[in-house]
Amino acid sequence: MEAAGLLCLAAAALLAWGFLRVWDSRERTKSQEQAGVLGDGSRTLLVIAHPDDEAMFFAPTVLGLARLGHRLSLLCFSAGNFYNQGEIRKKELLQSCDVLGIPPSSIMIIDNRDFPDDPSVRWDTERVASILLQHIEMNSINLVVTFDEGGVSGHSNHIALYAAMRTLHSEGRLPKGCSVLTLQSVNVLRKYISLLDLPFTLLRRQDVLFVLTSKEVAQAKRAMSCHHSQLLWFRRLYVLFSRYMRINSLYFL
Ligand SMILES: [Zn+2]
Repeated sequence: MEAAGLLCLAAAALLAWGFLRVWDSRERTKSQEQAGVLGDGSRTLLVIAHPDDEAMFFAPTVLGLARLGHRLSLLCFSAGNFYNQGEIRKKELLQSCDVLGIPPSSIMIIDNRDFPDDPSVRWDTERVASILLQHIEMNSINLVVTFDEGGVSGHSNHIALYAAMRTLHSEGRLPKGCSVLTLQSVNVLRKYISLLDLPFTLLRRQDVLFVLTSKEVAQAKRAMSCHHSQLLWFRRLYVLFSRYMRINSLYFL
């Protein structure tokens, strides 16, 4: 009975995969520019709010973009100082990025009072936007990757990054040729069913999908394990069951 269920699931996944491939190739031809920024040599900036976001949520994207030959840099808007562990967490971020293949010279951590690690504080959208724009222009960034409007975990600091990128995009302030990809938030049930979420992911609209190999999942887990200060029991469960350690689906703004 269990085997029959698994077979049905596999068949559904295959059908969905075939459908997506047809749909995907049609979508891609609509936007050659967006397809172009996914190509080899793109200068890509990952924008996160806290040390550990890169491993907890974006590991499939980081490793997937590396596979595509992107030159990846990272901008983190806080030191993650909610429990006064900012200095420790900055070091943990560097270690995690080392595992994920992002060198220290490509990492910038903003550590100031304007952007506290605090879900109850709403970061000023215009202030975030102007720092983002300056960073994008200075580093000739072609592609920015960040959270979507749900912020994956609903954290207001994550959502502030989306709000700022949305503002820059909708007001036409981004440099020509700079695209923005946002990481799809899913409901709590889908969030914790690991790779079993793949069929549900494939049935929905998306522009880019990264699925890690088992070797890459081990790499993502190693990156997450660098965040010693954050590895409380519920985060260990997160690492075991979260789809975000294995699957990232993203949309272009
Ligand atoms: Zn975060």
